[in-house]
Amino acid sequence: MLNQGFRIFSILKSIILKIKELISQLEEICPPNYQESYDNCGLIAGDKEKEITGVLLCLDSTEEVLKEAVKLKCNMIIAHHPILFFPIKKLTGKTYYERTLIYAIKNDLAIYAMHTNLDNIRMGVNNKIAEKIGIKNLSILEPKEGLLRKLVTFCPTNKAEAVRTALFEAGAGKIGDYDECSFNAEGVGTFRAGENSNPHVGTKHKRHHEKEERIETLYPIHIENRVINALIKAHPYEEVAYDIYPLHLSHPQVGAGMVGELEKPLSEMDFLQLLKKNMKAPGIRYTPLRGKKVKKVAICGGAGSFLLPNAISAGADMFVTGDYKYHQFFDADGKIVIADIGHYESEQFTPEIVYSLLKEKFTTFAARISKTNTNPVNYL
Ligand SMILES: [Zn+2]
Repeated sequence: MLNQGFRIFSILKSIILKIKELISQLEEICPPNYQESYDNCGLIAGDKEKEITGVLLCLDSTEEVLKEAVKLKCNMIIAHHPILFFPIKKLTGKTYYERTLIYAIKNDLAIYAMHTNLDNIRMGVNNKIAEKIGIKNLSILEPKEGLLRKLVTFCPTNKAEAVRTALFEAGAGKIGDYDECSFNAEGVGTFRAGENSNPHVGTKHKRHHEKEERIETLYPIHIENRVINALIKAHPYEEVAYDIYPLHLSHPQVGAGMVGELEKPLSEMDFLQLLKKNMKAPGIRYTPLRGKKVKKVAICGGAGSFLLPNAISAGADMFVTGDYKYHQFFDADGKIVIADIGHYESEQFTPEIVYSLLKEKFTTFAARISKTNTNPVNYL
């Protein structure tokens, strides 16, 4: 996924970009349909037709961050948390998010949010935490369902390879580290061309038998239009026969949380110390230690308590997350150690993910990480 995105980024490297063009590249890597149903990812404010003068990356697009963007001549802010989360009926500046929005509009700033869609991709928020604390061999803790579909089409045998190639080039046929995956079987198709038709083979008004291949492949929903357009373009028939099936499979590369392993097991206290240092956590709240070495670690940036059952059934020794409530800590129940490092602390390195993409691939505008600390929580 990421590599494909990088390739497209490279092509656009030297071209002045409009906001909408950058968004469409970002959404190749981090599609909006990977977000959770309650979320509000995407362009929250701004004119997508404007050219980008600079991009400021942050966790929270507060008014202070927007002021920093103006100073730096950045007219686009890419935030992790959407500043608008619930519908609003008035825009009077009564709340901090209304004031932020008013400031954005007055100063012609665009605010774009990559939230749970960035949590849910393989190279997203949890991968960044894993990188910081040295967790390897990662897999998704709760793979997301309903993101994949199967395409079945029928094509004359002599054109089947061209159709397969077109489908693969459009992004179909990827399973884990494999691509160009399909199943193909030969058979005979029939059709009778009507009066106004222009058949590729056969004669009008006569039933025609044609040696065809049935091609099956799968694709993620967000590229469906591209895949179907590629099919229709490459297929020789005037009327292309194809079926689309929803798949009740989970996507192994997309979903909430991650689990992986430390290279060398650590004592629980040594691991907590490492966590505190590398995640710059002023304090860690943790459940009773079990006297076991820590090897397997589950991770969920932000508020991750919903993933505790997954972390336990994955056999994790420690669950690193944020935003735990008092009663929820009891659920560790001697089966795991929960380590709450704080919501902000767990996600503070998230802007680095988008930064490395933009910095490497674009030279026509500046990409910077905000220096404003937006953490609303203080520690004594
Ligand atoms: Zn968060």
